[in-house]
Amino acid sequence: MDNQALSPVEIRDMLIAVSDKIIESEALLSEADRKLGDGDHGLGMQRGFTAAKSQLEALEPKTAGDVLTTIGMALMASMGGASGAVMGMLFQSGGMALANAASLDASGLSQFLDAAREGVCNLGGAKPGDKTMVDALAGAQESGQAAIDGSTSEAFAAVAAGATDGMEKTKAMIATMGRAKTLGEKSIGHPDPGAVSVSIIFQTMSDYVNQR
Ligand code: ADP
Ligand code: MG
Repeated sequence: MDNQALSPVEIRDMLIAVSDKIIESEALLSEADRKLGDGDHGLGMQRGFTAAKSQLEALEPKTAGDVLTTIGMALMASMGGASGAVMGMLFQSGGMALANAASLDASGLSQFLDAAREGVCNLGGAKPGDKTMVDALAGAQESGQAAIDGSTSEAFAAVAAGATDGMEKTKAMIATMGRAKTLGEKSIGHPDPGAVSVSIIFQTMSDYVNQR
């Protein structure tokens, strides 16, 4: 563990920053979903992260898992829809892997992402290439594994870049899951809205860690 590891309180504050960023990205996320789905992704994410933020503000966390499972349960309970289940599961499954972790470093981030990817893929059945948030999450997870021996801030930066790269790749894909499936080849050219959200989430985490 390097000396930059995040304390539970820092993880909470990082996720409050993520909540603010998602809440202010409502229009961008809804517009992305208007191209491929029913246009409600931004509102769902805004609702979920508003609920998560109010629970985080009241939380005095003892472990990394406390913060991450709190956000997971808040998203599942408040969002609904396909993305409520998968976004909730990302934090819930990932957080369970860090249930006893007193801090978060590069290795912990990788453990979080391994468990998050497994949980989301088991729940929703999507694989990389299906044009869903799994493409961004898989990009984050693979970059997290590659960054395991580096510093905490390098790992967060690598994970953010991996998530964004995974999101960018969804532009060229044909949707095979969720509402966008009915568009077939017309889905080409637009990024998956859930992948845009995942990219924003990990970029905001990296900004927090690298600006401390
Ligand atoms: P809904 O599709 O219910 O309107 P949202 O618009 O909030 O929900 O979210 C859509 C996003 O959910 C998609 O962009 C995609 O990333 C994600 N999604 C949908 N189905 C799945 C699935 N089976 N696995 C992973 N992600 C999924
Ligand atoms: Mg939608």
